[in-house]
Amino acid sequence: MSFFKTLNVSENNDKKSVELENEESVKCLIIGSGPAGYTAAIYAARANLKPVIIQGMEAGGQLTTTTEVENFPGYPEGVSGPILMDDLKAQAERFGTDIRWGEVTSVDFSKRPFSVIVDYKKPFIAETVVIATGATAKYLGLESENKFKGAGVSACATCDGFFYKGKRVAVVGGGDTAAEEATYLAGLAEKVFLIVRKPYLRASKAMIHRVEHTPNIEILYEHNTKEITGTNVVTGATLIKRQGEADETEVKIEIDGFFVAIGHKPNSELFKEFINTDEVGYIKTIPGTSKTNVPGVFAAGDIQDSQYRQAVTAAGSGCMAALDAERFLAEYD
Ligand code: NDP
Repeated sequence: MSFFKTLNVSENNDKKSVELENEESVKCLIIGSGPAGYTAAIYAARANLKPVIIQGMEAGGQLTTTTEVENFPGYPEGVSGPILMDDLKAQAERFGTDIRWGEVTSVDFSKRPFSVIVDYKKPFIAETVVIATGATAKYLGLESENKFKGAGVSACATCDGFFYKGKRVAVVGGGDTAAEEATYLAGLAEKVFLIVRKPYLRASKAMIHRVEHTPNIEILYEHNTKEITGTNVVTGATLIKRQGEADETEVKIEIDGFFVAIGHKPNSELFKEFINTDEVGYIKTIPGTSKTNVPGVFAAGDIQDSQYRQAVTAAGSGCMAALDAERFLAEYD
């Protein structure tokens, strides 16, 4: 069956027609190579679905930018994020998963089998698809923030908070995530600054109450981060305190860690034409399953989880997606 011979693509506003390569038919195509994608692959491969993984732009997912992972079960001494992902990859390959470089650039889920195009030119015809494209943490966009990523700057308190036991940290953001991360860190760190750009928090009442009543959290309302400072690791931050139009004061704080909690962006843009998402873009699944609104398309990991966002929960949902795909194929084929 052939869906396309050529494809009209728009790249950098340049419209062009691309000749497609030969299409490949697969039983189970997994999009994304974080813990959810690889776990789905391990299960799908062991069930003889001969899965193909399209790795995506950030092969290995968010964990490849994390240093030490101490809360993934099975690693009593902890493991570095990249090594954990290499292990998951090797385990998926051991059972015959076919791992491909490339990024999915378009999909057609309007009929089954589904069409998925990689890098504008390689068509896959898939009987089932597991979307495991994850979410990307939003950052402030400061040069110094980029410089200290993995050396004091983090977007995940549950992942990295432990390293700041007895130290001083800052959390930036005013929503539930920031409030939760600040409270979590307050249980470990000596002092937590919560940097909020507005004169109020937008977190839920219960969370606001909690941060306001935690003695070692200091809320800095109407503060913005100008720069994160340090030589090799973070040692401080320069903030701008704003009160009214013309009143701006520079404030310096001494910290060892800087946690960004200003929201995540689920990587679901490509699928929205076919797959239902919530208002933020997280894919909606039928509760207790990985099923999306399109039978045969499943979602796993952070792309469908705004709440837990842990490697182990992503892996668990990847397992669910593979089992759901296997059952779907058994029922329909
Ligand atoms: P939100 O979008 O709710 O909040 C983001 C926060 O970051 C806002 O306070 C925003 O400020 C601030 N922000 C955004 N950009 C910047 C910037 N450049 N500089 C400084 N501050 C910035 O994201 P969350 O991740 O907190 O929450 C996402 C969703 O998940 C929400 O619906 C939340 O309720 C939910 N959630 C629920 C939890 C629970 O129930 N346990 C736990 C965690 C999340 P401003 O207010 O000025 O726009």
